[in-house]
Amino acid sequence: MTFTHDTEVALGAAAALVNTASDPDTLRTPEDLERFLDEEGWFGVRSGDPAELDAVRALRPRLRELWTLEEEELVPTLNEILVEAEALPQLVDHDGLGWHIHAVPQDAPLAKRMAVEAVMALIDVVRAGELDRLKRCAADDCDDLVIDLSRNRSRRFCESGCGNRENVRAYRDRKRAE
Ligand SMILES: [Zn+2]
Ligand SMILES: [Zn+2]
Repeated sequence: MTFTHDTEVALGAAAALVNTASDPDTLRTPEDLERFLDEEGWFGVRSGDPAELDAVRALRPRLRELWTLEEEELVPTLNEILVEAEALPQLVDHDGLGWHIHAVPQDAPLAKRMAVEAVMALIDVVRAGELDRLKRCAADDCDDLVIDLSRNRSRRFCESGCGNRENVRAYRDRKRAE
């Protein structure tokens, strides 16, 4: 295992959130957000109002940037977000998840919790020297984020079918060459 389970979950959730912005945007209404939160298993309070949706939508480009920064820029940016959020790490256990760290309370605004969870997970990635696991989909027409948790760091495509599409294309190219 590369990271702790909660870190892997948080990295996946961060990538999934950023990828909702890919055309067509799947996070356009409070109902969209509710569905996303349920699918991704987000705990804690939700207001369900347009302001919450706006804050979460505004977080997406910021998280995308974190995924792409070089270490020297990423580290101070992560620290800055923790200061901004007045993060205070606490060991917690809820919903049968086992001990893990929350750096902001469960009743903090959703977008803040999403930002800090992503940052805490990225801190683990930096500490482990594993930033090369933060990737973007290798398909020409896709810029989705990918978290590569594979043993041999071989993951290249996002989860929205790009790998299959590329396989089909490669197969056709081979057929044509024959
Ligand atoms: Zn938790
Ligand atoms: Zn893709």
